[in-house]
Amino acid sequence: MSTIAFIGLGNMGGPMAANLIKAGHRVIGTDLAEAALARHEAAGGVRGASIAAAVSEADVVVTMLPSGREVMALYGGDAGIIAKAKAGALLIDSSTIDVDTARAVAKLAAARGLAMLDGPVSGGVGGASAGTLTFMCGGEDATFERARPYLEAMGKTIVHAGGPGNGQAAKICNNMILGITMIATSEAFVLAEKLGLEAQKLFDIASKSSGQSWSLTTYCPVPGPVPTSPANRDYQAGFTAAMMLKDLKLAQAAASSAGAVTPLGAEAAALYGLYAAQGEAGTDFSGIVNFLRGT
Ligand code: NAD
Repeated sequence: MSTIAFIGLGNMGGPMAANLIKAGHRVIGTDLAEAALARHEAAGGVRGASIAAAVSEADVVVTMLPSGREVMALYGGDAGIIAKAKAGALLIDSSTIDVDTARAVAKLAAARGLAMLDGPVSGGVGGASAGTLTFMCGGEDATFERARPYLEAMGKTIVHAGGPGNGQAAKICNNMILGITMIATSEAFVLAEKLGLEAQKLFDIASKSSGQSWSLTTYCPVPGPVPTSPANRDYQAGFTAAMMLKDLKLAQAAASSAGAVTPLGAEAAALYGLYAAQGEAGTDFSGIVNFLRGT
């Protein structure tokens, strides 16, 4: 059993921390929201007096925060996680953030002799609750092996993507594919409607042809063909348009910083920006089909 400080007990962090508790660890949680702390205590967790207090007695620190801004703010500085962590502690950031910040924080940790892993996830709130998340990890080999048992308590597929920042790189590349294929799939369904081709017929054909993708076969953006997709529950998220937009913007920032040419990624970010600005930020990202249809 380890003592784990878990910072950021939100929609994802709350159930992830609960799975670490179920695995037998002592989990000291901190969050700005009282409701998140109460839920953590109800799941058998300990309430931390402060971030500094929580990390000062932890063998492992896990963070699940909204963006790179919070990650840098909480890890850096004289009173930050890196300054206050126990010597030899393992640091894992599972937030989805920009690659540059992930690498900068890992460098600060290394300067204090602390092992750090970026381990963003895919699988959503359902995967976090079920303990079936996919972790994409960036860090040294030894750090990855140390982190693996903790990640296995929260996830099912644990992949080492390379050195520091590569977990975030994998996450934003994957989600750029997802954003683009969702728009492509939605455009095809809208075109099919206008051509008098039934959605189910397009699905039956494209799902067995070269137009096949996860956006089509698991998360089909129109109701009917895949009964579990959000289209069948009025596009209740799921994965919100705001989150897709955040990840597409991260991909664009990374592409600009690395000098990669990603015109479809840029167009996807622009379209999700317009869709979110129409009051649909909280709608599932597959709802973009309605925006493209003009309904
Ligand atoms: P969330 O907003 O529900 O949770 C973030 C939590 O961090 C909140 O409870 C907030 O109070 C807390 N927080 C913010 N600043 C803090 C501070 N200074 N000190 C302590 N706590 C602080 O968000 P979420 O959906 O849990 O997402 C977390 C991360 O996971 C994001 O980076 C997101 O992109 C990523 N992610 C989310 C999903 C999803 O489906 N929700 C899927 C994959 C990845």
